Amino acid sequence: MIIVLKPNIAKKDEGIVVKEIKRLGYKPHIMRGVAHTVIGAIGDERTHRTLEVLSSWPQVESVIPVQKRHKLVSREAHKANSTVNARGVVIGGKKFQVMAGPCSVESEKQLMTTAHAVKKAGATILRGGAFKPRTSPYEFQGLGEKGLKLLAKARKETGLPIITELLSEQHVELVADYADILQIGTRNAQNFQLLIAVVKIGKPVLLKRGLSMKIEEWLLAGEYILANENPNLMFCERGVRTFETYTRNLLDLGAIPILKKESHCPVVIDPSQGAGRADLVTAMCKGSVAMGADALLIEVHPNPAEAWSDGAQQVTLEGFAKLMDELKPFIAAAGRE
Ligand code: PEP
Ligand code: MN
Repeated sequence: MIIVLKPNIAKKDEGIVVKEIKRLGYKPHIMRGVAHTVIGAIGDERTHRTLEVLSSWPQVESVIPVQKRHKLVSREAHKANSTVNARGVVIGGKKFQVMAGPCSVESEKQLMTTAHAVKKAGATILRGGAFKPRTSPYEFQGLGEKGLKLLAKARKETGLPIITELLSEQHVELVADYADILQIGTRNAQNFQLLIAVVKIGKPVLLKRGLSMKIEEWLLAGEYILANENPNLMFCERGVRTFETYTRNLLDLGAIPILKKESHCPVVIDPSQGAGRADLVTAMCKGSVAMGADALLIEVHPNPAEAWSDGAQQVTLEGFAKLMDELKPFIAAAGRE
């Protein structure tokens, strides 16, 4: 931390601040300028008590942090890319992975048809929501455990590992019994008690970016997972809320190189929630691959016009097969398989 003192401060007041810095366990390094005195407080801000409280002291002009607040998710902590293994499917390695399936599990026929079709087209993980976080209480809330059972059946038939959303602490064990990857949705990205509860299971976690979440806040939410000793974390960008109305959310592709620089964890892109429109999904997938994403999470439905949730953004089975074909040269150009 850098502590800037008020201009022309008296020696006695400087001494008061220095004493407090020492009391909190830091080594003060005093630099006196013409008008300003600046104190460098040496010590690890992430393990010591914070010096930020000093910013309210009458002797202090400002307190400037020099260290990043995230630690375990950072590249400093782990130089190489980390990988996450979901039932043998490795995310974050050389092979580019595609997670695909319906927004919501609706029926056996809908799920099995989709699961077989996405597998045939090259998807490596099956997605499907059984517990749905809906804006309105009058909208379809998901099939719950029945949906989880159908996902398990689809996994048995296709061999695809499954990813599904977990909404509440109450359902951690139930969902973890079926899922290979636990999805923490945008609305729960800062539900810290849920994050801690999920960690205990030890299964891979896909952490979506909150609706209006800054990247630093997102990294710190991820820190909760790693700090509680589950290394199997993936970040998933799905668009943030802005003033734009052409798209449902503003898919922040710039977050990919930022996350890759800041963190060692795999980065997944969900263009479906980002765009909110099926016609933009392919272009966003291509951009994501080119920008360095490790995987995609794509909504696919046999009949999007009749979907029980997110109909406008789900691609058809044929559309998905075409998308996967078009993606191939981008995956190769990005040096992935
Ligand atoms: C979803 O994946 O269907 C979903 C609800 O995602 P998000 O949390 O990103 O809105
Ligand atoms: Mn959806």
